[in-house]
Amino acid sequence: MEFWKKRTASERLQHIEKALQENVNFSKDASLGYPASKLDGKVFYDDAPFLKDAPVLMTYVANPNHIGCHTTGTSEKAFKGTQQIERETLDILAVDIFGAKKNQFDGYIASGGTEANLQALWMYRNYYMKNHNAKPSEIAIIASEDTHYSIAKGANILLIDWLSIPVNFENRKIETDAFKKILLNALSTGKKYFIVVCNMGTTMFGSVDNPMDYTSFLDKLNCNYKMHIDAAYGGFVYPFLAKDEKLLNFKNQKITSITIDAHKMLQAPYGTGIFLCRKNLIENVLTQEAEYVEGMDLTLSGSRSGANAVAVWMILNTYGPNGWFEKIKILQMRTDWLCQQLNDMQIKYFREPNMNIVTIKSEFIPDEIAHQFDLVPQKHNEENEWYKIVLMEHVEVEHLNKLITKLKKSRLSIAN
Ligand SMILES: *Cc1c(COP(=O)(O)O)cnc(C)c1O
Repeated sequence: MEFWKKRTASERLQHIEKALQENVNFSKDASLGYPASKLDGKVFYDDAPFLKDAPVLMTYVANPNHIGCHTTGTSEKAFKGTQQIERETLDILAVDIFGAKKNQFDGYIASGGTEANLQALWMYRNYYMKNHNAKPSEIAIIASEDTHYSIAKGANILLIDWLSIPVNFENRKIETDAFKKILLNALSTGKKYFIVVCNMGTTMFGSVDNPMDYTSFLDKLNCNYKMHIDAAYGGFVYPFLAKDEKLLNFKNQKITSITIDAHKMLQAPYGTGIFLCRKNLIENVLTQEAEYVEGMDLTLSGSRSGANAVAVWMILNTYGPNGWFEKIKILQMRTDWLCQQLNDMQIKYFREPNMNIVTIKSEFIPDEIAHQFDLVPQKHNEENEWYKIVLMEHVEVEHLNKLITKLKKSRLSIAN
């Protein structure tokens, strides 16, 4: 670990206070040109006593704007203190968790996984248009049918097709024969450039794609492609539990960008997704017209809160790498426990061993139980075949036990 460590509460507080001091202080400094200020003082008291021990809330009240991208070029000087916190956060994520080389990546804290995925698709579409003179109709996204719907959104907005690749019903693995057929057909109908999206934890199953299922055939046919990892769901879980055999990180030269959500498994406030990519790619989405922004705007969002960067930094530095591993390990053990109970009852389910999601075949779950425990169906209609359970921090064995007891009872009553 080059950047990630555990820090005490007072170290964290000092670090954030120092960063805020380096920002413009709207309470004291004469700052005339920005349409920005601290939060409305009538509503959000900046002298509330608890703020002095609460670095994230303190930052919310100071209200820094992190508009633009701060890993390359220059940035707004007014918020340089907390922009540095954002860079430190990205260093931990890109280098320590996802194997990038120091200073060899760009990125920013987006509003969520949807934005980070859109940013990736947008960047690659423009890359192909600029560097290969591609027409949007010659570009296609390749992603499995279990892929998050933000990819469909992106395809729609950017006017590029998504080739949805079927997965095996039981093990949720990419059907490679079907993929080959779909790719050959796409090539024969004029597709020349591909954006591959590999999942690290699909939303419904937690399944993890093997990039080789795509790349071996794409390479064999000498196709032009870029590969994005959607780790919105699994990014704070899978890398800590899995051995590296699928190489779903920047050590794999074929992978050029990654999405991670901090507001899912990391339990950061909503509005914190992370976008990371290799150097020399993000310039493809430079908006030249953004002239009033100091530096370059290379992001999909405009204004965005610096408090989100501070929130992610705080969580990571409160746990440190070992503390985070322990937290995730406990979630994995609870997931194991649930799977063991389901095995004993011969209930069929899907589970990726390095994830904390269990997706149960709906035939084993009576409707009223699914309802009572808020299990999420794959489809909100009669065709639904799966229900999922996500082993989050608040989902303890005690709660799972209630579900298991109910399931046992309902089976007895059917048997009688
Ligand atoms: C949740 C999710 C997204 C979208 O993230 P939002 O933060 O809701 O925008 C994208 N991909 C995957 C795999 C997800 O689970």
